[in-house]
Amino acid sequence: MQYNTYYHSARRIAPAPKKSPTKVWRRALVLVVIGIGVLAVLDSRAPHAQARAAVAPVVQYAKAQSVCLDPGHGGSDPGASTNDGTITERDINLIVAKRVQANLQKDGYRVYMTRTTNGQTLSNHDRYTYCNAMHATILVSIHHNYFQDSSVDYASALFYKDQDQALAADILNSVATRLHLQNDNISQFDDGVLSESTMPAALSEGFFITSDYEYSQLTTAGSTRLNDEADAITQGIITYFTQPITKRPAINMNPQQIERDDSGA
Ligand SMILES: [Zn+2]
Repeated sequence: MQYNTYYHSARRIAPAPKKSPTKVWRRALVLVVIGIGVLAVLDSRAPHAQARAAVAPVVQYAKAQSVCLDPGHGGSDPGASTNDGTITERDINLIVAKRVQANLQKDGYRVYMTRTTNGQTLSNHDRYTYCNAMHATILVSIHHNYFQDSSVDYASALFYKDQDQALAADILNSVATRLHLQNDNISQFDDGVLSESTMPAALSEGFFITSDYEYSQLTTAGSTRLNDEADAITQGIITYFTQPITKRPAINMNPQQIERDDSGA
């Protein structure tokens, strides 16, 4: 306290420095030059600012194609779950689908979602009826596989109609590569979402939710597993829309046919 008092009083009694007339004029001149410079910069930026304002707002649906995304299960139907029951397909299917939705919208595609919350319970009929009514270009159903042996883990995709095959293969090839999983090839599945949809449709079984490896991925903080899967599904869809048919790899089929399951597995 004493020190402060001394400091202030010392400042008060310090003599004001004298400024010579030349110094004052020089300072004024410097200020004028700076002012002119700032005005010049602002003026040079003006046309750009106007050009920017004239650009139309982001075109929301730049692409002609639209995608109906169907996060599997939901509501009273949890689907498969991890062996400890803490993580369900219902939850991760929606997480992956929402990121695919955001990715595709960012890329200019129109996206329809059969469900956007985990509280919705949908039948297969609800799902394909909605996608058909929206006249979506394609339908992609997002699921995860399960098996009693927790060492089993691979990527697969399901189709029903002939016109589904290329879409299922493009998504599967992208997911298997990105997630470093064995590619089980596409299998025919007599399922309402695939068979009753009026557009090419595919059901992605990204990985096994019952796998020990995937469980460790899903429960590790900061894991990018689901984001990687979503980005891979997105890439598969974009490949389907953009890659010329002549440049597609041959479609490998799994001879196994999966029987109809109207519970929506
Ligand atoms: Zn499922």
